[in-house]
Amino acid sequence: MPFSSFNLSPTLLNVLASLGYNQPYPIQKEAIPAILSRKDVLAIAQTGSGKTASYVLPLLTKLQGQGTSRNRHARVLVLVPTRELAIQVREVFILFGSALPMPVKTLAVFGGVSINPQMIGLQGVQVLVATPGRLLELVDSNAVHLSEIDTLILDEADKMLNLGFSEEMKRIFALLPQKRQNLLFSATLSNDLAEINQIILHDPVVVKIEPEQENLDLIEQTGYFVPLEKKGPLLRYIIKQKDLKQVLVFTSSTFQADNVADKLCKNGIDAMAIHSKKSQGARNESLREFKAGELRVLVTTDLLSRGIDIEYLPCVINYELPRSPKDYIHRIGRTGRAENPGEAISLVTPEDQQHFRIIQKKMGKWVTMIDSANIELRGY
Ligand code: AMP
Repeated sequence: MPFSSFNLSPTLLNVLASLGYNQPYPIQKEAIPAILSRKDVLAIAQTGSGKTASYVLPLLTKLQGQGTSRNRHARVLVLVPTRELAIQVREVFILFGSALPMPVKTLAVFGGVSINPQMIGLQGVQVLVATPGRLLELVDSNAVHLSEIDTLILDEADKMLNLGFSEEMKRIFALLPQKRQNLLFSATLSNDLAEINQIILHDPVVVKIEPEQENLDLIEQTGYFVPLEKKGPLLRYIIKQKDLKQVLVFTSSTFQADNVADKLCKNGIDAMAIHSKKSQGARNESLREFKAGELRVLVTTDLLSRGIDIEYLPCVINYELPRSPKDYIHRIGRTGRAENPGEAISLVTPEDQQHFRIIQKKMGKWVTMIDSANIELRGY
């Protein structure tokens, strides 16, 4: 089934072809026709499934057929949990939307940066991508009105609930017109989410995309047994010995992320930390440099393990293991994407061993283990 079998704008078909999107992904096959026919959709799908394009393409097509909206009255509202995802979703709207005959003004708003430019930017906005807290601030100051929203999208709804946005989300729902289309995307379907589904979804088309098992097969996974105090030298050894050029390192706290990045820099390895306590400008800049291949190591917390698409990332290192096996899979899923093989390395201290066994059992795969006692770490 090619993209041309959907009733998408012909301009979008050209953009798809120029980007090399030859076939719709499974989620797109199911969600695009449902969204075009104005059905509500509940999609259980992970990042990497192609979920963003599955709503951006039909919504841009629909917006082409509509006249201009009243000033500061957005038509489409995408709620997202993080600033990074807000920026990324906006980029996908711009990527496809910029070629359209009728321009579609898309803005991303999120906290942690000055509100004034966002207030000005909301002039003429049609598609608004927002984190819940900042959106409410903007609504409270009359910078934007939600009374003409005809499509609401909750992207990574499970993560929004995990981050405690439930009250804000309900306040926002109350500001929307009753008659509208609702699209909900989530990696998991929890009890909390069931409540939100009940509030917003009407007779939805349900799309369930199983995470692709083959994806994990593309990832070469290795674990290193290592005492706590040897983790730093081992990390540097791995990066230098394997001559890794672009590596994402995960830690469990913002403090550790800074610490690890600092030590790498002191040892001549170009690294930056990106996490929720960094200013938005610093986060954008380090992500941009990393994506462009100008920064060798990006150290982060689980903030980035989902929602951020870095194409062809060759290597991920778990400096510290995540708490949940699901997060482990999300983290290593940053690599081995788009049919490119990748490598995932985990540093496992004696205290972590039992936990790492549980992770492997849940994942259904056993990881090759190396004992760092056999590695000469002096000088690293
Ligand atoms: P997402 O799940 O929305 O984060 O998308 C994951 C990645 O898949 C992004 O890099 C998209 O550009 C890419 N992508 C989405 N749909 C397709 C498609 N039909 N063909 C090729 N790549 C795609």
